[in-house]
Formats: sequence, structure tokens, C-alpha cells
Amino acid sequence: MSSDTPDAAPVGGSLADRVSKPDAPAEVASEDGARDGAGDKLGGSELQEPDYTVEVKLSDLQADPNNPLFSIQTFDNLGLDERILKGLSSMNFRKPSKVQERALPLLMSNPPKNLVGQSQSGTGKTAAFVLNVLSRLDLTTEQSQITPQALILAPTRELARQIVGVIQVMGQFLDGLVIGTAVPTETSIRPARMDCSVVVGTPGTVQDMIKKRIMNPTQLKVLVLDEADNMLDQQGLGDQCIRVKAMLPRTIQVVLFSATFPTHVHTYAGKFAPSANEITLKHDELTVEGIKQLYMDCNNEEEKYASLIQLYGLLTVGSSIIFVKTRASASQIESRMTAQGHTVASLTGGIEGSQRDSIIDRFRSGEAKVLITTNVLARGIDVSTVSLVINYDIPAAFENNRNTGEPDYQTYLHRIGRTGRFGRIGVAISFVGSRQEWEMLRMIQTHFQCTIDRIDTGDWDEVEELIKKTIKNSRAQAKFNQ
Ligand code: ADP
Ligand code: MG
Repeated sequence: MSSDTPDAAPVGGSLADRVSKPDAPAEVASEDGARDGAGDKLGGSELQEPDYTVEVKLSDLQADPNNPLFSIQTFDNLGLDERILKGLSSMNFRKPSKVQERALPLLMSNPPKNLVGQSQSGTGKTAAFVLNVLSRLDLTTEQSQITPQALILAPTRELARQIVGVIQVMGQFLDGLVIGTAVPTETSIRPARMDCSVVVGTPGTVQDMIKKRIMNPTQLKVLVLDEADNMLDQQGLGDQCIRVKAMLPRTIQVVLFSATFPTHVHTYAGKFAPSANEITLKHDELTVEGIKQLYMDCNNEEEKYASLIQLYGLLTVGSSIIFVKTRASASQIESRMTAQGHTVASLTGGIEGSQRDSIIDRFRSGEAKVLITTNVLARGIDVSTVSLVINYDIPAAFENNRNTGEPDYQTYLHRIGRTGRFGRIGVAISFVGSRQEWEMLRMIQTHFQCTIDRIDTGDWDEVEELIKKTIKNSRAQAKFNQ
């Protein structure tokens, strides 16, 4: 415990309590071969499941009414086209998750209605909006195939490319489907026209393409904002989204999805998507059971770095993401670790576009297992092998560029949500390096009514053993905690 945080006693049950529970009977994972977001055409390859003992079947989780992956429906009776069903079964999607089951009938009914949809990280929101988009496309004529009918906006190029990958796989049996990616590129290689049926992109590039008549918005039927609260809340992005929407047909179906909708954005979301159907969650429903939340006391910045190095062996059990505050600290930590002989990659907004693509693709394929990044990758990124997330800094909330002393609750939740995807188990460790960070962690626990256990760093071998066991137990813990 750091000396300046005398009140920071271990919170809730200890790590040891949790992982010493007996193991669940070994069973075969039902989703072997499930794919990650990136499709082959993007250079993202099918990821191999790490060599875990997968102990609770996905089908068990999906049969539990209290689990967000639960549903009573099958994809067959959701009224989907045969070719789309074929796409889904190629991805090994056997049953819809709760949000998919609830959202799809609302999204696909006619006349189309707007939707504000909220569901925990890793519960399959992408498929919910992609299935609606694919179902609404008219691909019967050559002209319709090359005229944008749906537009999906995401906050980062990495997320936009990931969504393109999902559509490619889900829509692979739809003849004539053409998907366009609208992310920043050098003007020289930018397409002269977006002749495609679906466009996925970031708001600034899309706005520019419509203005320059590279993209025709007149036939658009659906507009999706993924990570909608983030899109509408961030000053620059929010303005761009509004400007894009103003250039689209008035009758367009507006679909907003996120794991989080803080109150002030929720009110605004209602204006962006008027008279919308809504799927919402309460604060205390937001955390995902499969993600073990832990913290580690570090007295100062140097101790944070030392702890990270101590943890290095664990970082490569699966894949890991280390979130830091600034681009500068990301590159500092990267150089320092590299100089010490550790293999790490780093991706921040400061890096040029195509280089960013190759870094994230290497991370997806498992070639790079440890990724240092900023909030740029806090949202949406779906890499199933990520078993450990480190909050090197607790995300702080800012107002008018001033630290409010409060945590950024949404960012915390999205960051830890990069692990524990669709019923998998993951571990999130937050480094507490100051009294303020300790306070912020306490507020996070109160806000989400969750427990963040302290890791006792007195015996590193024990720490390592415990975390390894938690990671390797895959789904076992998710079942225990229900
Ligand atoms: P979210 O956007 O809610 O955080 P994603 O849409 O990224 O979650 O989905 C998380 C993971 O779950 C993805 O790897 C996806 O392929 C997988 N997935 C989604 N729906 C299903 C399903 N019905 N069955 C099996 N896997 C699914
Ligand atoms: Mg998502």
C-alpha cells in the first residue's frame, strides 16, 4: 500500500478467494473457430484460440437467462435472409445474444424506426446493426449495388476497418455487395468515387467525401453510429456527425449503439435519433462478469514501470493491451521496454494511417502480443485473444481541458471491455500511483457497484500464479460469478 493512501485497504474479496474455487468440469468450447472482427481482405487473419483450458461452454452461458449472451430465439426465426444466415453460420454464430435478439426485431420492422441500443462490451452489438444493414440492402440491380444505401460511422480507423471485416464475412453470400471504407488516406490513393452498397468510415472523411461528391448520400436508408455516445460527446467528432447527418435523406433510419450512454449524451442522442426505440442498461448492469478487475499499488511513476516489467511474463500468456494517458508516454514506455529486450508494439493517434493498419493487423494475428496504446483503442476493438488489460493510468475526466478529479467512467469500462469478449474471461489490472488515482478507483467501484480487488505484490510468484490461473480458466469464473 502506498504511504500516501492510508485508507486504501483491500476492497472486497481477495484475488485468492476468487481463483481458488474448484475448477469447472472441462468441456469443449462450442465456438471454436469463431472469428475476430477483421476479415481476410484486410490482412487480419483468423485468430487462433490461445492454448486455454476452456471450461464453460458458450452454449451454457447463452442458456442462462441472467447472462447478457442469453436468448430464447434462434437466428432462424428472426426473419433473416437465407444468404445472411449462411454468413452467420460460417462465423459459428449459433444463437443470438440478448441485445441481438432484442434489437433485431425493432431494427428490422417496417416502416423503419430509429434505435438507441445499449449493451455490455463484447455482447455482439456489431452483428445487431450489421444484420439490419444487410437485410435492408437492395442489391438487385448493378446500379443499386454501387450506390451507398447504408452508412456506418465509427470513431477510429481501426474500428471502421474492423466493422468492414465483419460485414465482409457476414455478407459473403450476398451477390453484388460492395463495401467501401472511408478513413483518412493520402489523397493520391483515395478512390475517385465511393461506388459501393455500404460505406463504413470515420465522420471527418465521410463528410469530406460527400462534400466533394465522391460519395452519393441520396439513396442512404440507414445511418449507424457505433460507439455513439463517444461520437456525439466529443467536440470535433460530434460536430462532424451532425454535419454528415444534415447531408443525408431526412427519412433515414438512425441507429445508435454503445455500451455506455451517460445521461447528458443520452438526452442529446434522443435528438439525433428522434422517436427512437430504446434498449438501456442500469449502471450496475454494465460490468461484464467475466472480467476480473484488480488493482496494484504503485507509489509513483517509476514503480508503475517496474510493475509492468514484473508483469511482462503474464502479458504474453494471451495478448495484452496497456492503456496510457498520452502519446508521449506510450512511446517512452515502448522504447524503454524495447531497450530492455521486451517485444512490444505501440499504436497511438500520432502514427500515420497505413502504419497504424499494419500495427493493429499484427496485433490481431498474434504476431505482436503486447500493445501499448492510448484511448484511441479504448473502444470497440475486438480481439478475442486479449486476456489482460492494464490501466497504466486510471482514465481521468476532463472538462475544458481541466482535470475534474473524477475518473472517466465510460473510458474505464470500455478499456477493460477489450478483454472478456463474448463470454470469455479476462483480467483488468489498474495501476494506482497517487492518492488521486486511488480516489478515482474508489469512485469507479461505487459508480458501477463493482469490486476491484487489490493484488498483493509481496510475493510475485504467487501473483503470477493467480493471474495465470484466472486467465487460463477462461470461462470457468464467469459461471461461478453468476
Ligand atoms: P460489442 O460491439 O457488443 O462490444 P462485438 O460486436 O465486437 O461486441 O462482438 C464481440 C465478439 O462476439 C465478436 O468476436 C463477435 O464475433 C462475437 N459474437 C457476436 N455475436 C455472436 C453470437 N451470436 N454468437 C457467437 N459469437 C458472437
Ligand atoms: Mg462494438
